[in-house]
Amino acid sequence: MSRGTRQDAASTGGGSAATGSAAWRLAQWAIWGIPRRLVVPVLLVELTAVVLTAFAVRPAEFDRTSIIFGSMLCAFGIMHSEVAMRVERTRRRIAETLHVDLSSVWTFAGAVLLPPALAAGVATIVFTHLWWRSWRPRVPIYRHAFSTATIVLACLAASAVVGAYRDGGVTGVDDVPGVLLLGAAILVYTTVNSALVAGAVAVSSPQPDIGKVLGRWDDNLLELATLSLGAITAVALAINPVLIVFVLPPLLVLHRAVLVKHLEEAANTDGKTGLLNAVAWHVQAERALQRTKRRDGPPGVLVLDLDHFKAVNDTHGHLAGDQVLTAVAGVLRDEVRERDLVGRFGGEEFVVMLAGLGGRGPAEIEAVAERIRRRVADLRVEIPTPDGPLTVRGLSVSVGCAVMPDGGAELRDLLEVADRALYAAKGAGRNAVRMGNATSDRPALLPLHTDPSTPVEPPTLHSNAGD
Ligand code: GH3
Ligand code: MG
Ligand code: MG
Repeated sequence: MSRGTRQDAASTGGGSAATGSAAWRLAQWAIWGIPRRLVVPVLLVELTAVVLTAFAVRPAEFDRTSIIFGSMLCAFGIMHSEVAMRVERTRRRIAETLHVDLSSVWTFAGAVLLPPALAAGVATIVFTHLWWRSWRPRVPIYRHAFSTATIVLACLAASAVVGAYRDGGVTGVDDVPGVLLLGAAILVYTTVNSALVAGAVAVSSPQPDIGKVLGRWDDNLLELATLSLGAITAVALAINPVLIVFVLPPLLVLHRAVLVKHLEEAANTDGKTGLLNAVAWHVQAERALQRTKRRDGPPGVLVLDLDHFKAVNDTHGHLAGDQVLTAVAGVLRDEVRERDLVGRFGGEEFVVMLAGLGGRGPAEIEAVAERIRRRVADLRVEIPTPDGPLTVRGLSVSVGCAVMPDGGAELRDLLEVADRALYAAKGAGRNAVRMGNATSDRPALLPLHTDPSTPVEPPTLHSNAGD
């Protein structure tokens, strides 16, 4: 499997691939639309792949066996893409994160079995066919070229590892040292590929974070699984080429399983903000509650509602409002731990479950809520418009908190108590945090934080020109 560049990496302003005669008009190539700092590294990676492949060409190594094996890998790679095309297109449509494909079963097998230049050729053919049939026009050609270059470089590196064991044309991998070398080749292949993709993500993100750069654990595990299948493919080919037909069924099932996982994630996600949607939040919060109660101390819930959000929509339309929602979602994610559950309940209302607050439950949840309140108050959301960029500021959020056991024993109780506390915060003038208590009729009497010395005004929009 190969890791393509993340949707957002190397894609800013890219648009679609240069097509037809425009492809030959250098100035119009989509690559010039990507951030400038990315152009040189991208071109360097591509140039390196071409030069190293050219240096690796040794016609004497292109014997009959390696040409037959190379052709078989291309044929099966193409067959795989054709059979899995619908699955792959659907995955491309719904997956926003780092896209992982399964073609390196074939490209890695080529790297192990074939002379390096032939392996690079197989990788280019299989990968380009996949792009042509399944990824166009969503993935512009310059991004495809970069991804292909990373795969070619990974193939050349893996090929160099097994090259020590190469005997003439095709590598023998059916004995113990050969199998050990296969393990090393898998590591080298995935390291080179991942490092190049991670580099592109790091350079293209204004504030790269380590999670984004390294990709998700399950994506990386899937990559290792695919490469293992590639290693088995190489061994099978070396033993008896006919065995390659047994690789296709498990690969297609794996492909389908990956799609199911993506669909499940999409069904749990709020499309606008990327947070959990209300149903998924409830299901996961119930589960986490049972777990965390036993292990990590009392959990707590925050219910948050943006103040005067209607004013943002009324002043600048729903699209601007949506961008504010996305920015607030980013603040929420930033301010809590990875294991805390952040969801969008609907409209401009969010909910957070903080797992395991320890002995200082109420004080801790109050501190988190207060941090969020301040971050939202400081938020500046840049909104591009046809008349130039606008900045929304003066946002604020009201927050209700509830912590076990004072806030209730079940998730429903916690939510009710936090919701009443939220309304108390609104009643107190907004831009405020209130702690709820299940034993009191009026749970939010204890004022925690209310910022405004004057009543909260609706958010304002400022043209950047005046800033
Ligand atoms: P309050 O301080 O009392 O919470 O006032 P408010 O204006 O935030 O609350 P109100 O309930 O009056 O309005 C909520 C607004 O949120 C109205 C609705 O149009 C808007 N809204 C709900 N969902 C979305 C959405 O997905 N996108 C955008 N842009 N607006 C939304
Ligand atoms: Mg509101
Ligand atoms: Mg509301």
